Amino acid sequence: MIELQNVAYSYGGGELLSDISLKLAPGSFHFLTGPSGSGKSTFLKLCYMGLFATSGDVQVFGQDTRTMDRDDIARNRRRIGVVHQDCEFLDHLPLAENVALPLTVAGRDPSAEAENLIQLLTWVGLTRHKNALPPQLSGGERQRAALARALIMSPDIILADEPTGNIDWEMSLRLLTLLVELNKMGKTIVVATHDLTLIRTAKAQLNARVLRIKNRRLQLAGSDL
Ligand code: ADP
Ligand code: MG
Repeated sequence: MIELQNVAYSYGGGELLSDISLKLAPGSFHFLTGPSGSGKSTFLKLCYMGLFATSGDVQVFGQDTRTMDRDDIARNRRRIGVVHQDCEFLDHLPLAENVALPLTVAGRDPSAEAENLIQLLTWVGLTRHKNALPPQLSGGERQRAALARALIMSPDIILADEPTGNIDWEMSLRLLTLLVELNKMGKTIVVATHDLTLIRTAKAQLNARVLRIKNRRLQLAGSDL
């Protein structure tokens, strides 16, 4: 689904990621760890074409990202749901409209897909907050709303950047349960996190691989977690 080969990413400050090769197989679940500033968010951006590699190959859904035009990029991005580190919402719009926003952006009519929206809100446990404004929600509710928004376009891949960064353990577990369920439905998942307890808990429930960025490179973590 996403394949990186000898990928490097540099910016003015120097090389951040180097010699990264990885294949995200359909239905796989990966965690991505590494110290703050090691390049986790950057790696996810390379996967969803928020950034482009300085060198090396990045293939997304079988297509080389260098040969994609704007329409290709937009079309492929819709197949990737992203839960951003600090989930931003439009604060003046009710939660349900925020979750449905990607449909509007893609030129679809949200009212034609109201049933799907309600199902999604039910699944993340937010139906009773559907008319609430984002600032009225708790951290855990916002994270679940961000997950629902990432899912509204029925993506094949979910990339979550520190989704449990600002929420308590109980809410983290609830979010993890949703991600595990999605994976069992066949979605390909990558979760960037430095929460090792979360990773250990997940590994007890499913076959997840743990990647770690160390010295600009991506390693497969073993039992030394
Ligand atoms: P992580 O998510 O692991 O904390 P990031 O991917 O956010 O790491 O970024 C790693 C570091 O690289 C950060 O210190 C960030 O400021 C820096 N960085 C990444 N891309 C750029 C860029 N284009 N310009 C300036 N700094 C960048
Ligand atoms: Mg980050």
